[in-house]
Amino acid sequence: MKEKERARKIKMIIMDVDGTLTDGSLLLLPDGEELKSYNVKDGTGVLLARIAGLKTGIITGKISSSLKKRAEKLKIMEVYEGVLDKKRVLMEILEKNKLNPEQVAYIGDDVGDLEVIKSVGLAGAVADAHPEIKKHSHFICSNFGGKGAVREFIEFILEAQNKWPNVEASLKDFVKLKERI
Ligand SMILES: [Mg+2]
Repeated sequence: MKEKERARKIKMIIMDVDGTLTDGSLLLLPDGEELKSYNVKDGTGVLLARIAGLKTGIITGKISSSLKKRAEKLKIMEVYEGVLDKKRVLMEILEKNKLNPEQVAYIGDDVGDLEVIKSVGLAGAVADAHPEIKKHSHFICSNFGGKGAVREFIEFILEAQNKWPNVEASLKDFVKLKERI
C-alpha cells in the first residue's frame, strides 16, 4: 500500500520526544535538571492536526516536567512518559481510543521506537533516524528531529486526507490556540 493511502486512514498521530520533537540535545543543569528545546513549527503542526480533527499522543522513555507543559499547550491528548515498552503503551492507547493500528501514525528516530514503527498503519522516520527505523518506515522526512520533521509528517497526513482547506477555514481557532503556544 502506498504511503498516501495509509495516511488517508489515520485518526491519531503519536510522537516520540527526544530526537523527534527535539534534536536529541539535553542541557544538564548543575542540579541535574534537563533542558530541551522544542520547535515552534512542529508545535504549530501538532495544533493543526488537532484542528483538523485528529487525535494526538506522545510516548517517551524519559520523564520531564517541561514536556508536561509543552503537551498541555499543544493540546496533546495522550501523554505517556517513562515508558520502557512502547508497544505495550501503543496497544493501551488503541484500546482506550477504540482505534485499529491502521488508524494510527507514529513518528520516531531510534531503535526504542522500532516495535511501534512496525505496528502502526503509517510509520514516519525523521531524516536523521537510525537506519533500522528508516528501513521499516513508510515516510521518511527531509527534516531532522526537532527541526520540522514532525510538522512535515503531519502536513503529509493532512494533505493526503484533503484536510488542508478545513484547517484554513479554522484559522480563527488556530489563532486562538496559537496564542497559547
Ligand atoms: Mg527518540
